Amino acid sequence: MPNPELISIVIPVFNEAAVLDELISRCLSVGESFKRPFELILVDDGSSDNSADKITLASEQYPNKIIGVLLNRNYGQHAAVMAGFAESRGEVVITLDADLQNPPEEMPKLLAKIDEGYDVVGSVRMNRRDSVFRKFSSKLINRTVQKVTGVMMRDYGCMLRAYRRNIIDAMLQCHERSTFIPILANTFAHKATEVDVHHAERADGDSKYNLWKLINLQFDLLTSMTTAPLRLLNVLGAAIALLGFLFGLMLLGMRIFFGSVWAAEGVFTLFAILFIFIGAQFFAMGLLGEYIGRIYQDVRARPRYFVRSVVGRSAKCLD
Ligand code: UDP
Ligand code: MG
Repeated sequence: MPNPELISIVIPVFNEAAVLDELISRCLSVGESFKRPFELILVDDGSSDNSADKITLASEQYPNKIIGVLLNRNYGQHAAVMAGFAESRGEVVITLDADLQNPPEEMPKLLAKIDEGYDVVGSVRMNRRDSVFRKFSSKLINRTVQKVTGVMMRDYGCMLRAYRRNIIDAMLQCHERSTFIPILANTFAHKATEVDVHHAERADGDSKYNLWKLINLQFDLLTSMTTAPLRLLNVLGAAIALLGFLFGLMLLGMRIFFGSVWAAEGVFTLFAILFIFIGAQFFAMGLLGEYIGRIYQDVRARPRYFVRSVVGRSAKCLD
């Protein structure tokens, strides 16, 4: 049963042993300042360092306050957060990154907005401390999402966010595997807003996203948001075919009026154009593949994650 007073803090952890102690102590001290009961849910996303042990230890130290959800392998940040949602009991759920780039001290700001009656509160990273490449790609993505969804949130990449219980429950009912939580939350949000938050350098270690994972995440975002590119494909295909047809007519005309010499000299132009078309086709097919791949995953309907064990919940709280 969700507790109407309780606040759940959900944090995905993937090889973050170096920062865990500081993360936990800062979250606990901010939590105490809420003057409301809270639980800290640390989801170990199949770390290969000793993050899971550290989480287990912390959960033994603070039973029912720190809860560890240990996944059996790495499923990705958003799946890990969903696992945390499933374990959470709070009326309000706050998510943040483990690497302390999102200062836990900003949580009260989000709570204040929730108390004002918003059911989704996002955050915008001021003075963002990331590489130029990451910032640029974020900007591009935020623009696109704004255009496509019409929801004017400025920073979809920042995972320091707060949700009301009804939003969490709605998200948990969605069983697709490629989840991008901020977008999913927005589809259910009644009143959403954003607050400005600070952004710090990563406290320790490196980003857990390599280029490949990042690309995958962007496609998760795109396909979870809209099927519009599929329709675009039709339009694009039709336009290219029409152009090709007109071009053929033009070639024929040239051949008739200027003789065979002209047409033969046009061979290389033809090649160039052919390559453009082939490129466009491959691009389209790749995009199609992104969707089909995801449909395939969903049709298989495998569990999004698999929990190895939950630590730190005592039996009497499980009813
Ligand atoms: N993370 C995770 N599973 C993954 C990758 C990342 O749980 O496969 C967690 C990670 O531990 C951190 C958060 O997601 O708490 C954000 O990751 P990171 O800071 O590496 O991403 P960046 O700040 O570079 O976007
Ligand atoms: Mg980070």
